Amino acid sequence: MYDNRVLIAGGGPVGAVTGLRLAQLGIPVTVFDQLDEPAEDHRAATLQPSTLDLFKPLGVIDRVLEQGLESRMFQWRDRATQEIVAEFDYARLAGETEYPYVIQLEQHRTVYAALEAAKKHSLFTIHRPVEVISVEQDAEGVEAKVRHADGKTEVHRGRYLMGCDGGRSIVRKATGVSFEGFTWPERFNIVTTTYDFSQLGFRLRNYCAHPQRWVSFMKVPGEDNKGLWRCVFPAKTEESDEEVMSDAWIHARFAECLSSGGPYEVIHRNMYNVHQRVAGNFRNGRIILAGDAAHINNPIGGMGMNSGFQDGLNAAEKLAEIWNGADPESLLDRYDRQRRLTAIEYVQAQSIANKRMLEERDPAARKANLDNLRAIAADPDKHLDFVRRSSLIAMLEKSRTIQ
Ligand SMILES: Cc1cc2nc3c(=O)[nH]c(=O)nc-3n(C[C@H](O)[C@H](O)[C@H](O)COP(=O)(O)OP(=O)(O)OC[C@H]3O[C@@H](n4cnc5c(N)ncnc54)[C@H](O)[C@@H]3O)c2cc1C
Repeated sequence: MYDNRVLIAGGGPVGAVTGLRLAQLGIPVTVFDQLDEPAEDHRAATLQPSTLDLFKPLGVIDRVLEQGLESRMFQWRDRATQEIVAEFDYARLAGETEYPYVIQLEQHRTVYAALEAAKKHSLFTIHRPVEVISVEQDAEGVEAKVRHADGKTEVHRGRYLMGCDGGRSIVRKATGVSFEGFTWPERFNIVTTTYDFSQLGFRLRNYCAHPQRWVSFMKVPGEDNKGLWRCVFPAKTEESDEEVMSDAWIHARFAECLSSGGPYEVIHRNMYNVHQRVAGNFRNGRIILAGDAAHINNPIGGMGMNSGFQDGLNAAEKLAEIWNGADPESLLDRYDRQRRLTAIEYVQAQSIANKRMLEERDPAARKANLDNLRAIAADPDKHLDFVRRSSLIAMLEKSRTIQ
């Protein structure tokens, strides 16, 4: 017998928010996460206006707004000259969103906000630390085999299963869905410092172009709300992991990128590989992929998690229609079309373009890129179009038009 419920592998940002929405829509949902509590790794920091709009009916918006930092403007600089090339203003989105700004908040605090709200629902259950080790499906339902911390395994049965289990998704692998794309040759080192870059004229979100050593800076609240800055530095392929993680390497980056500032107290560092990949299909029968399980991208622009929320909430609305008797096949195929096409057209395209703009080496192309950013910022229509894309409002709108 299959339970009349949705199973979710992964209680990260996308699984937590999707589980909350399903419970609110009256669908029993069980989430499994292999960690005993949400990971506090230094990943997403930016909640886009499109996400804040989506969060409003979920009852998590107040918690997010009270904890996060409001950031209206973001800045592009030429690191070679320290010139501010362009500033983009989310206030131009007033009238299209109730929240014409981003909220800078550590990813795990968004997860906690969603889980706090979800746990109030009797239809929501989360099991952790419990790892999903295999999934199967037939015409009637799905099965997830899970393993507890003591090694004990058990099988849970449901009507549908969502893979929200991140880039290495075992759900995606189990369904045999491809994950095509590429891995950038360089790694990124994300370094967190207490140094306050606003004293050097930076906004809360900044991208500084340079042919060899670009850098991006973001402010997050920090656990004590005194503010921390996360800096992303690319590492050259010939630099060893050990070298890139050393104090000497990090302080050399600060010195060359920001000759006037410092000292930089480093409180965290983490190096990772960067990929651009999209699943070949976002659904396979009764199994639905969302978030990083379905698509991964470089973090420049702050779009990965935000587009994952759009996936999860889109799928939740469709599952609610299915629970009310609608045809599952056409709805879930539409989910795939809506979310897969826009993941490619918006998140992959924009994050790749952002990285190429930051790192362009050819002097003529570099000048053309920076001139183009200046021209976009100066033209009201182009400026609005640019912030509609950056905020993922355009992506959400496009997704909804796809039949
Ligand atoms: C440095 C960096 C900065 C970023 N900045 C931004 C940003 O500003 N804005 C933005 O939108 N995105 C950003 N991203 C991307 C963002 O972090 C991801 O898109 C986001 O974490 C995806 O959420 P998810 O829930 O799909 O997957 P994950 O966050 O990977 O969560 C997956 C969850 O599934 C669990 N899990 C995995 N396997 C299993 C299993 N077999 N059984 C049970 N549980 C399992 C994990 O424990 C985890 O809790 C950034 C990424 C990086 C690396």
